[in-house]
Amino acid sequence: MPDALTTSEANHAVLVETEIQAVNEDVNEVHPLTISLCTWYAKCRRDLPWRKTRDPYPIWLSEVILQQTRVDQGLAYWERFLEEFPRVEDLARADSERVMKLWQGLGYYSRARNVHKAAQAVAAAGGRFPSCASELCDLPGVGPYTAAAVASICYNEPVAAVDGNVIRVVSRLLDLELPVDRAPGRGAIEGLAQAMVDRNDPGTSNQAMMELGAMVCSPKAPKCSDCPVASGCLAAARGTALERPVKHTRTRVENVHFTFALHLHPSGDQVWMERRPAGGIWGELWSLPFTETPDEPQKNGLEAKSWGPFKHELSHRRITASCHLSEQGVEGASGRWVDFEDVGEYALHRLMERMWEQIGPEIAGKR
Ligand code: SF4
Repeated sequence: MPDALTTSEANHAVLVETEIQAVNEDVNEVHPLTISLCTWYAKCRRDLPWRKTRDPYPIWLSEVILQQTRVDQGLAYWERFLEEFPRVEDLARADSERVMKLWQGLGYYSRARNVHKAAQAVAAAGGRFPSCASELCDLPGVGPYTAAAVASICYNEPVAAVDGNVIRVVSRLLDLELPVDRAPGRGAIEGLAQAMVDRNDPGTSNQAMMELGAMVCSPKAPKCSDCPVASGCLAAARGTALERPVKHTRTRVENVHFTFALHLHPSGDQVWMERRPAGGIWGELWSLPFTETPDEPQKNGLEAKSWGPFKHELSHRRITASCHLSEQGVEGASGRWVDFEDVGEYALHRLMERMWEQIGPEIAGKR
């Protein structure tokens, strides 16, 4: 069901529709803003290794790694993955724990699980990626954005790749008052983004748009005086760039407390670790066992030693964690005793890594 529009939103939607129709009249015509954009991109683009190939495997990998991740951080991961798994079949055959270990530190671990599953699906199809956006969307973890990026860059399909950067740029070009997280606003964004795709070279125009969002039209400090599309930007003309994009829903961040338990083996040189169940928080990563409480961490009076608090933020949760030495027994098929010096070899979630940096040397020093 489409969201109901207020009168002013409906009027604005009509205006936007008219503007998009005007630029859409001749689909073979390259949009004038796209010409300026691609000229700028040819001169100013960053020299990134995945831009030197049209092989879908490294390009898909770069697109997945760079979701929610800065280029300078993601580059090293991309290189490590390709060094260890030069072909998609190598990644498909990899042990899932090894894939998680290589992904460690990037966060959003469902991406790693999906990368592995998608590689297995491609390998099962003879190592060939689907060659159009709609079929690429059938791969695990591949949404419309990633599919459009791969299809346009590798197979020249004229389909707009609309990520957060592109939403911001286009909402500013249109000075869009409609919320971009509701259907009418999203439709307006996709309409202009699609009209701005260069049908002769869609991969380049898509990458140019994304590069503009990353390097010039930034969320808090757009460099309008250096922008190649400033002449067609309504928000720049009206001084409303920082108010765009408009969002209907704000991300709600919940405060939670995690209480971790440090169980030591009677030998004094091993710690009990558990592999988190797939599908939940930190799925398939290794951790000290923990419980979640809505309020302050519970203490049961048995703790001989505590560490923390450790603060950690996820996209929707602000975690305060503490760790307590526990003398209660442990069991469970998902857990095992691990030598102190081997803990770092496991695929750990980032909070566990940070806690272990403090706790590990302390307990190892007391042996
Ligand atoms: S002129 Fe400014 S607000 Fe408009 S697209 Fe360029 S950088 Fe963004």
